[in-house]
Amino acid sequence: MCNGVDGEFMEIKRVKIAVIGGGASGIACAITCGERFGKNSTVIIERQSRVGKKILATGNGRCNITNRNALPEHYHGDEKIIKSVLEKFSPNDCEKFFARMGVLFRDEDGGRVYPYSNQASTVLDGMRMYCAKLGVPEICDFEIKLIKKHKDFFSVISQNIVIQAENIVFATGSKASPSLGANDSGYSFLKDFGITSTTLKPALCPIHAKEKYKNLKGVRSKGTVTLFDGNQKIISRDGEIQFTDYGISGICVFDISRFVSDCKNPKIFVDVMKEYSENHLCDYLFKCRKIFTNADDILTGTLNKKLAQVIVQVCGFEKKSCKELSENDIKKLAHTVKHFTFTPLKNDDYSYAQVCAGGISSKYVYPDTLMSKSVKNLYICGELLDVDGECGGYNLHFAFGSGIIVGKSIK
Ligand SMILES: Cc1cc2nc3c(=O)[nH]c(=O)nc-3n(C[C@H](O)[C@H](O)[C@H](O)COP(=O)(O)OP(=O)(O)OC[C@H]3O[C@@H](n4cnc5c(N)ncnc54)[C@H](O)[C@@H]3O)c2cc1C
Repeated sequence: MCNGVDGEFMEIKRVKIAVIGGGASGIACAITCGERFGKNSTVIIERQSRVGKKILATGNGRCNITNRNALPEHYHGDEKIIKSVLEKFSPNDCEKFFARMGVLFRDEDGGRVYPYSNQASTVLDGMRMYCAKLGVPEICDFEIKLIKKHKDFFSVISQNIVIQAENIVFATGSKASPSLGANDSGYSFLKDFGITSTTLKPALCPIHAKEKYKNLKGVRSKGTVTLFDGNQKIISRDGEIQFTDYGISGICVFDISRFVSDCKNPKIFVDVMKEYSENHLCDYLFKCRKIFTNADDILTGTLNKKLAQVIVQVCGFEKKSCKELSENDIKKLAHTVKHFTFTPLKNDDYSYAQVCAGGISSKYVYPDTLMSKSVKNLYICGELLDVDGECGGYNLHFAFGSGIIVGKSIK
């Protein structure tokens, strides 16, 4: 017992490693520490009433746990950290790690890997049961009031408990998806140690646009989304586009979302007939002009009906008959099908973001060990770091990998 922050008596717990944050990276780190240093060497400190809430929400409850193509080209952020983590932790390593807790993998398209059970809860249960077996306790509902650095240990202090640890690991995640308990406390605690993050922005999120088409809510179409900044092409992705009443969504949209806030004049062009060139499409629409009566129907046999009507409206042809459509009108229609335009609105809302771009860079941590360069025995892993991946299992792969690397680096 000792005197706490408010002068009350406090329970003291002494450990070798305190992992702050019971998410993907924190639990993976704690498991590695438990395996290396034995029972009661390590504790997981969690602010929420239970660990792993975000894991349960991943992959729509299925948990896209890793990707067989986990290579640097699928990540953004600090290249040194990305390279170091991916070199040390491959998708096979991920499979072997989970095999130790009896979690079987199943491969799907695009290199995506899910637990064989198709349930995210399998992943969390496997990790938690293994932690219990290793003697790594979770301390939940732990609201940190203060973290103090002493000569050879740290004190992590809540209202009534002090955890004294030789090493502390920050695995508190990012601010993305606050409804799952995400917050920015990790960045604030690190700031007290002189460790600051690069600019943060939401990533892997839907895009809100100036153009709002209420009728398109719920419409899906295969196609290509391309982000331009003025005349400069920034990035392009193929996939299923989900139209909403506020803009666009879908995996391909998520993957380009992180670039929008860097653009001065962002514009997104959606091509809903990517297999057809604009000229080829014109030829086809000239034929359709003879088939249909009203211009409003000209795309009826080609696109989703609601999408077809909105595109005709955007061109201003909805009141015309097909006969009235000139050659230039047909060209305009073909161009609009290939360049259905959305003007993204500025987005600093983390509510629907799956991850956060930006974080702690290699200016502050050694890429090999992820230990702080200025504070010995302080480590950082997971999304707190300046690394974000594309959709497809890349972010969990990085979270697990970085947590395991920290666990292996602690002496
Ligand atoms: C809806 C959704 C779906 C996703 N689906 C996928 C997917 O299928 N595949 C994929 O690869 N990625 C997916 N991601 C991204 C992935 O979940 C994250 O990148 C990953 O969980 C990050 O791991 P982490 O350990 O850094 O943080 P988290 O998993 O967020 O864990 C951080 C933990 O720290 C705790 N914490 C925070 N502050 C404190 C504090 N002060 N004290 C104590 N504890 C604290 C939090 O409560 C939390 O439990 C998804 C994200 C979301 C939001």
